[in-house]
Amino acid sequence: MNDILHAPFMTDMIRTAENMYRLGWDERNSGNISLRLEASEVAQYLDTTRAERSFPTGFSAPELDGAFFLVTGAGKYFKNVPYAPQVNLGLVRLTEGGARAELLWGLADGGAVTSEFPAHMMSHAARRQADADARVVMHAHPANLLAMTHVHPLDERSFTRTLWQMCTESIMIFPDGVGVLPWMLCGTNAIGEATAEKMRDVRLVVWSLHGVYGAGRTLDEAFGLIETAEKAAEIYLKIAHLPRVNRLTDDMLRQVERRYGVHARDGYLDPVTNRGGETDSL
Ligand SMILES: [Zn+2]
Repeated sequence: MNDILHAPFMTDMIRTAENMYRLGWDERNSGNISLRLEASEVAQYLDTTRAERSFPTGFSAPELDGAFFLVTGAGKYFKNVPYAPQVNLGLVRLTEGGARAELLWGLADGGAVTSEFPAHMMSHAARRQADADARVVMHAHPANLLAMTHVHPLDERSFTRTLWQMCTESIMIFPDGVGVLPWMLCGTNAIGEATAEKMRDVRLVVWSLHGVYGAGRTLDEAFGLIETAEKAAEIYLKIAHLPRVNRLTDDMLRQVERRYGVHARDGYLDPVTNRGGETDSL
């Protein structure tokens, strides 16, 4: 059996948590990551027939029955993940239609999986329906996106358009747009269900006055999505109080769309060539 601490998925997970902490997205014990693994990947490192312990999840996700996930632990600090991955991370398999989870490795201090496990698992189920290769869900508190929810209308079209208008790259990276939830109590099945509902159509879901969820096929993809939206939000906060002299118009964004073969979310761009009179608030 190979050493799981040297598994490529483990190295990726540790580096991702390190980078999220380094960028200030995950203070104290905030943030959580879940990475879906194939049974064949796990079997190279662990005896998948032996569980350390099992626990109820408090939700049902029949579509994920038997699926393996590497997840961050409840109350764990991202800054500590590289120093003690076996304490701060856990590898679980969902059983009984998702109603229970078996711990196969990690959380060595007796800890639990992230308190946002319901939101993660429901989001995985939703993303997997949209894309069979979707494997990653991550949650973080990047300051600029969070700050934006204090001062910008939460209408999804308007929120997405503002982010697209901040940097030419935004529409290339998240042409599907950004979902926005109103403030809801975190850690509940209700916010998990609401997040998953958005995740059917988008890979980024902003939790107002709290943070953001990102999803992707790889840790890099989900991380890069949040990174790009966060950069756009940073630009917004730098210019929102200044008179605007130049702007990315819908006409320009359509050129990007055509050149890079992306498809902007239907109805989010004005089909008419730039009229010079943008009405979006900023
Ligand atoms: Zn949070």
